[in-house]
Amino acid sequence: MGTLVMKFGGTSVGGAQAIVLAADLVRQEVGNWQHIAIVVSAMRGVTDALIQGATLAAQGDDHTYRGIVSDLRVKHTLAVAELLDDPGARTSLLVAIETYLDEFASFCHSVHVLGEVTPRAMDTISSLGERINARVVAARLQAMGLDSCAVDATELIITDHRFQQATPLADATRLRVQQHLRPLLDKGVLPVVTGFIGGTEDGITTTLGRGGSDYSASILGAALDADEVWTWTDVDGVLTADPRIVPEARVIPELSYAEIGELAYFGAKVLHPKTIRPVIEQGIPLWVKNTFNPTCPGTRIVSEPTGTRGTVKAVTEITGLSMVTVEGRGMMGVPGIAARTFAAVASQGANVLMISQASSEQSICFVIPTPDVAPVIAALEGELALEIARRDIDRVWSMDDIVIVSAVGAGLRGTPGVAASLFNALAAEAINVIAIAQGSSECNISLVVNAEQAVQAVRQIHEKVINHG
Ligand code: ADP
Ligand code: ASP
Ligand code: MG
Repeated sequence: MGTLVMKFGGTSVGGAQAIVLAADLVRQEVGNWQHIAIVVSAMRGVTDALIQGATLAAQGDDHTYRGIVSDLRVKHTLAVAELLDDPGARTSLLVAIETYLDEFASFCHSVHVLGEVTPRAMDTISSLGERINARVVAARLQAMGLDSCAVDATELIITDHRFQQATPLADATRLRVQQHLRPLLDKGVLPVVTGFIGGTEDGITTTLGRGGSDYSASILGAALDADEVWTWTDVDGVLTADPRIVPEARVIPELSYAEIGELAYFGAKVLHPKTIRPVIEQGIPLWVKNTFNPTCPGTRIVSEPTGTRGTVKAVTEITGLSMVTVEGRGMMGVPGIAARTFAAVASQGANVLMISQASSEQSICFVIPTPDVAPVIAALEGELALEIARRDIDRVWSMDDIVIVSAVGAGLRGTPGVAASLFNALAAEAINVIAIAQGSSECNISLVVNAEQAVQAVRQIHEKVINHG
């Protein structure tokens, strides 16, 4: 007995069949826990459709969003028809859904007239999928005779004003959760909270970033002092590799917060990279489970896993990247070049995923998302203009179409020969490693390879290092 937060992702609540399973999973836990809070995503594909409609409307397209409204109406109406037998309950849910779809259409119309969609407007628009689905799932639980209601996280998860990537404010969120969610739980209600979204102190809708419903669940778990947070998805847990690249990838029974942090950061989509932040401090265990195979125990994520075996536990890849290099013989020993380089990069708001510097100090290279390359190079050329004119720096250039492949596992630290086994695995397939980085405390070795060799690199590491490590 205690408090459990259960989060269901887009496929797990992606239509009537999935919602039936998800609601059954909730019912099964009702007797086992004193309080259960539920967090849901929009149905799979809905957030993409909302964003696409608004983006095209801003670009002058006045039709696509209307088609999206019709598609979403059909999708949700079909689900509601299967989920609810009672005509009254059905009608009132359909009326609520229609109100949200009307809102979407009028937002898109405004965006079309204005010719732009601000990040703030985009958050309001892209939040609608979760708002609708929380109502659908709550209605299903009610139809099963359970006491449930939909709750908008706008009033629970209080964030800053950074639209599309909002950061939660822990104290304000805890207060709101205690004021608004706790009383529902105490009454034995099963609240179905919208994932992905938050709100500013003054009530403006924000979002936590794509895939952010996992983060919502852990934020609520921390604010409720939950005993466990379970995220239900469409695979058996965190796997040794992305199953779309390595079909034979296996479930990892246990991971540390640090390991999942690295995996998620370097591309394992199964959990949003920020998910562990709120739960680490309280040590709340996080589970990743499969809605469609609930008897499989899934992956348990805790601070100190018990049975850590092997060295490399998983391999990930992150695509859409470029490597920028600042090079020149005159850089050697000149203080401050690295600081100025990264200050110039930061001035463009670019996220640096990996840094590597040759010991001779003749070059600094770092990896950033490809769309940031042009502004970053322009900023570097401005900042380092003097050194470039003096030929202390020969050039600032970028290599596009690169991928970071990361090998993750706590055992990497202090295990001799891991880097060698990675290189051997790649050399056997003539895969060229362009750069390498290993943090002194992190449980990760990251390699930069060409995009066209990335899939092969992931498969080789899985086959030669994880399977035989
Ligand atoms: P949800 O909607 O439930 O949040 P996501 O699509 O966001 O689900 O994340 C689950 C997906 O992540 C899986 O279907 C799988 O294709 C992908 N994935 C990528 N890497 C991994 C990994 N290492 N382990 C498990 N799943 C992974
Ligand atoms: N629906 C949101 C998205 O597609 C959040 C999530 O699914 O986690 O990004
Ligand atoms: Mg997800």
